[in-house]
Amino acid sequence: MRKKLVVGNWKMNLIQPQAVSLVEALVRKIAVTDAVEVAVCPPYTSIGAVAQALKGTKISVGAQNVFWKDSGAFTGCVSAPMLADAGCKLCIVGHSETRGRFGKLEIDADDVGYFAETDKTVNQKIKALLYHSLMPILCVGETLAEREAGNTDDVIRRQLEGALAGVDCSELGCFSVAYEPVWAIGTGQVCDSKEASRVCGMIRKTLAGMYDQETADAIRILYGGSVKGSNSKELFSQPDIDGGLVGGASLDPDDFATIVLSAV
Ligand code: PEP
Repeated sequence: MRKKLVVGNWKMNLIQPQAVSLVEALVRKIAVTDAVEVAVCPPYTSIGAVAQALKGTKISVGAQNVFWKDSGAFTGCVSAPMLADAGCKLCIVGHSETRGRFGKLEIDADDVGYFAETDKTVNQKIKALLYHSLMPILCVGETLAEREAGNTDDVIRRQLEGALAGVDCSELGCFSVAYEPVWAIGTGQVCDSKEASRVCGMIRKTLAGMYDQETADAIRILYGGSVKGSNSKELFSQPDIDGGLVGGASLDPDDFATIVLSAV
């Protein structure tokens, strides 16, 4: 039986005092039980303060991105051992906003450098996180154009295969996937729960094909994209959805608490 996982992605929001107030409010509102695992992913600047504020609670801290090298001349980057040192237990990888928002780069491809993720950079990041015992949350999902062209499943299969190239099943002890249709992120347009569950089931089937059924059955597959307290229960009650990756609503302690409790 997979334990549900609910993760808040705060994106580029909140300075340290605000971040600490938010987690203090969460701790008051969410009595985390063994039935659900909860984590928040603040911006890098607040990870230390949030980790400190969450000491002794069951809520974990994660990061929103990572660089795959451990150290070196990579100005502006943060490595997996640095995240572990700051108190992180997990890290989002391949979010559509770091792959290139809405599936497109907002700056010239020639100027992108290390910032735009490709399946290859996602793969490097996953290997670095697993090596340092941090749980990657691999984001996959199609753009609206890809969905309308009937390519949803192919796009996601390609993302999974690229992200996990050369990763052995013995390394996947702590690993999860978030199905995040790009058109549903921050738009208020949530994916229909049956369709979200179908895609999550397809992801599991793909993982079973890449590895084996036992490995695939142990991996949590979350849904992300306009999750709110008003739709989370319906989403989380679907057979193939093991929790949520929550953006906007994770900044509101009441809404995030409702979402967490709906996963119990
Ligand atoms: C996200 O950023 O991963 C996300 C799902 O955002 P939102 O919940 O705001 O759609």
